[in-house]
Amino acid sequence: MSAFDLLPTPGATLLTGADWSAEPADGTLPVIDPSTGEEIYRLAAGGAAAVDRAVMAARAAADGPWGALPAVEKGRLLVRLSRAIEDHFEALWHLESHDTGKPVKQAKADITACARYFEFYGGAADKHHGETIPYQAGYSVLTWKEPYGVTGHIIPWNYPAQIFGRTIGGALAAGNACVLKPAEDACLTPLALAQLALAVGFPPGALTVVTGLGTAAGAALCAHPGLDHVSFTGSPQTAVAVQTAAARHNRPVTLELGGKSPQIVFADADLDGALPFITNAIVQNAGQTCSAGSRLLVQEAVADRFLDALSTRFTALEAGPADRDLDCGPLINAKQKARVDGYLTQAARDGVRTLASGRIAANAPAGGTFVAPALLDRAPVDHPVAQEEIFGPVLTAFRFHDEAEAIALADATPFGLVAGVWTQDGGRQFRLARALRAGQVFVNNYGAGGGVELPFGGMKKSGFGREKALEGLDHFSVTKTVAIRHG
Ligand code: NAD
Repeated sequence: MSAFDLLPTPGATLLTGADWSAEPADGTLPVIDPSTGEEIYRLAAGGAAAVDRAVMAARAAADGPWGALPAVEKGRLLVRLSRAIEDHFEALWHLESHDTGKPVKQAKADITACARYFEFYGGAADKHHGETIPYQAGYSVLTWKEPYGVTGHIIPWNYPAQIFGRTIGGALAAGNACVLKPAEDACLTPLALAQLALAVGFPPGALTVVTGLGTAAGAALCAHPGLDHVSFTGSPQTAVAVQTAAARHNRPVTLELGGKSPQIVFADADLDGALPFITNAIVQNAGQTCSAGSRLLVQEAVADRFLDALSTRFTALEAGPADRDLDCGPLINAKQKARVDGYLTQAARDGVRTLASGRIAANAPAGGTFVAPALLDRAPVDHPVAQEEIFGPVLTAFRFHDEAEAIALADATPFGLVAGVWTQDGGRQFRLARALRAGQVFVNNYGAGGGVELPFGGMKKSGFGREKALEGLDHFSVTKTVAIRHG
């Protein structure tokens, strides 16, 4: 089977969950393979009318066949989808790789993770329940976990399959009907996954996908009066628009936003052991990862030695087309490449030192949007490369003297998504884990393999609410308190 057999006819928008429809789209959008610059598909550009039909279909499902299914049956459908993802593994990772430029290993890892989300949430669907509360004599009090009803999901282009699994898996398991607006730059696996959901028997409307531009389909979804909750994963800037639209309806939102995450290396750390983690944390997905470890904080006593060893690694890094499975694939599009190149130019102009650069592979296609990984040093703390999410394979190094300075430097950006701490001192491990303002702190590792079991989300401008894990189910549910006075 060709990977593209999993997709609807080019230009179609999935509206009702029961079939594909070409209308009412506002034209089409090209899908470009970032490894080559070639067009490989055409998406429907849905707008307000498509969103309206999608939300109505979801409401009918929530109030009808999907809502009526017992939790155990909902869970079984999620598990069936997980199996279907495994059965279509080859086609799905090819789609993901062509659509986003992910190197083969990364594309495969993302589809495996996507299947795992549906397996986990399939098993969890009938195990999420309320409590009985001891209260005054003559009362029985209990709580129920109820779905919101219809949830809207807006996701970015960097991990479309994984984030699909994370947000849709959790919301469906909690019993909601979902409307998804994937990023215009990465819709192929979300469309294929929705197609698989239909094939394994999800009722029409339980999961509906509308493709289109953020400013059209995304804005229309956020503004739609028929939604009960919005989960947004994307940039802090767009999150303001999403929240503003939600505020007009006093509607709850979950925001999974960006980061400028520090990796803090103390002199007593296993330095050799830390090197591959620190490199991978910034080159994975060519640095286009919300949780990328994009700032390196090294204790002065070992800074030169550690940065020398890291430079050797960076010099050996290679970026190139996805099918060569190198350290980095291309960036998602020409705009993103220009943005990252712009940060590097500005850094050079302002005297920030480039300690090491990787290279773009020989014979890489001219139309590919490649950026060679770079290690920067001695940037002023308020410089854009020290403060802003570059979203490319660029690591900026800083030096610190003691624990207090390390904590202050780690906290010196508006973000608070992830932090990595490298030290063998047990007391310091706990002190840092307590002090750092980040949604997740990793000690002597970075990311812990990203398991679905681990709650994920931000502090500060990195967002609020949590997805993944059992906790994700709470964020897709409302608690109803029932108090019965029986005397
Ligand atoms: P983006 O904010 O530009 O777009 C995200 C989504 O929002 C897309 O689907 C887009 O079409 C849509 N959108 C754009 N304008 C909109 C509007 N006015 N109303 C409604 N929707 C709109 O972000 P991006 O460039 O696609 O993704 C990169 C960002 O996502 C980075 O900041 C990254 O850190 C963040 N991210 C966060 C996480 C996390 O879990 N915390 C995960 C992945 C990516």
